[in-house]
Amino acid sequence: MMNSGVLKDLSSVLRSNPERIDSADLPEQLLDTEYVSEKPIPESHTCPTCGGEAALYDSGDSDDLFRLVCLESHEHETTVTKKELTQYEVELAPLLEDIADTAGLTSTGDVANLFPEFAVQRTEEDVLVCLIGSAKNYDNSVQSAVNYILENQVPAFIVTPRQSVEELHYLIEPYAVVGIIQALTLNRFSDEDFVQETTVSLTSEYEHKQTLFDEQKIGKDDVRWKLEDHPSLIKSKLSTLRTLRENSKHERNGIGRTVWTEFEKVCKAAFAYLDFELEVGQGGVDNEGSEVADAVIGYPPMEIPDRVELSRLHGVVDAKSASQVDFDGEAVSKQLDYFDEIKGDKLYQSFTKLHLFVVFDFDAEKVLDWYETAKLHYPDQTGMVVLTADALRSMVDLNQSPLALSAVNRGEFDTRHVFRYFFDPKLYTRPEFVDVAELLDLSEWSGTEPETQHRYQAEDELLIVTQEMVLEWIDGIHSKQHDTDSLFQVE
Ligand SMILES: [Zn+2]
Repeated sequence: MMNSGVLKDLSSVLRSNPERIDSADLPEQLLDTEYVSEKPIPESHTCPTCGGEAALYDSGDSDDLFRLVCLESHEHETTVTKKELTQYEVELAPLLEDIADTAGLTSTGDVANLFPEFAVQRTEEDVLVCLIGSAKNYDNSVQSAVNYILENQVPAFIVTPRQSVEELHYLIEPYAVVGIIQALTLNRFSDEDFVQETTVSLTSEYEHKQTLFDEQKIGKDDVRWKLEDHPSLIKSKLSTLRTLRENSKHERNGIGRTVWTEFEKVCKAAFAYLDFELEVGQGGVDNEGSEVADAVIGYPPMEIPDRVELSRLHGVVDAKSASQVDFDGEAVSKQLDYFDEIKGDKLYQSFTKLHLFVVFDFDAEKVLDWYETAKLHYPDQTGMVVLTADALRSMVDLNQSPLALSAVNRGEFDTRHVFRYFFDPKLYTRPEFVDVAELLDLSEWSGTEPETQHRYQAEDELLIVTQEMVLEWIDGIHSKQHDTDSLFQVE
């Protein structure tokens, strides 16, 4: 059982500067615990009078007294006590061990010290104990801790030295809902019963979910395990994967391979969240080894008031890095086998067909080169869209934003209409959508050569969608909200 007074003092020390505590600031009762230790007296000192360099000498009178002599001026000399010179630091290992123990968990002794942001204790029960530190940017620290937990894919406690968990609630709420993360104040650990109950609920929820997914044969390493219906996880994952990918650019196997597999799955989750229909049994994740598309998505036909009726959209998704893939013709035709498969459908001719790439970044020139080859293999009425992962993340964000949701609820617009534009290159060339084409500057990316822009403009069925475009859309929607533009209305 952890003492509530000790926990209160520890919390305040952890909030200020756990790596350098003056003895005057160290609460007495912490001295008797293993949670703090004395630091060796430093070599260099500063003169309290002028701030210049100073040296320390024995006083000769007592072991507890020292002379602090200024090296800049002979007149600056003071006597200091040993106590004044001594500083302490928080010992994370015993503290984290006791926190885990209080929660009914057995620590493995394996501590990842990422202070001042956070430190993590692993446990035999596979629950992480994550203690937030004193870093100036609290939100960032919590976000880093959350990312760490997500990478490890196990449930975790986030323990804050602050007085309440309220400030971090909006950061962890989506994960708390999924039952992955429980946030507690350090003070809470004086109530052992409460904390242990929390552990039980954390682990049982996790186990329940595990059973559910086992039944569906979805492995624990599958992101769907935690992405289902949780847009914040999708967004966070898209950002994390980008960072991971930056770090593993030159790696062909290992983490590099993992990033791609994860990326495919996150993209699928994102499309599902955006109300696309995912074709069951299609997609790279389920058919690893064969060169099929990563996913096949569908979008129902829709009618836009005063505009036009849009046919059903069928898209083959390929999640990869457009800058490094070998876009050879053979690979394309294999990917597009799907279109052959659905040819038998009597509505096939009316389908709008789409070859969609989700990429972290792209080289417009290479995309154009590749598109020129690919279009030779496409069936009629097939467009190609290159969508950046950031753009996809912003779409998920838009779908989740309270502003958008309330507008949707008021019937002011239908986000599905908005998204449809990004997946249908031909819309932009139709006269009735000329205003949409104008709204988005589809041809200008910073750093793109004029020739490349001309080439791009000449391709009616190729569309590149960047995050800027999506954000511009969002702005457009917000400013149009009070107009009666039928583009955004629900029929
Ligand atoms: Zn001085």
